[in-house]
Amino acid sequence: MQTHFSLAQLADPDLAEANGILRNCVHCGFCTATCPTYVLLGDELDSPRGRIYLIKDMLEHDKPATAHMVKHVDRGKD
Ligand code: SF4
Repeated sequence: MQTHFSLAQLADPDLAEANGILRNCVHCGFCTATCPTYVLLGDELDSPRGRIYLIKDMLEHDKPATAHMVKHVDRGKD
């Protein structure tokens, strides 16, 4: 997945590690067919790819984890 961190952000080791992890997603969409929450709910944000996008947006823009984001990310942990 393409990311847009600034050089200053990438100086932070945690963000640099997150950047590498986020970029491993090639946006292929293969995960959606086998993701239980996506199959059940039909919302891209409830798939691995959608969750990766939400996390990327939060980290790139230094946003807090909103209730909207937490809802979609937490649906994948049980
Ligand atoms: S998370 Fe989903 S979209 Fe991203 S590389 Fe893995 S299977 Fe493909």
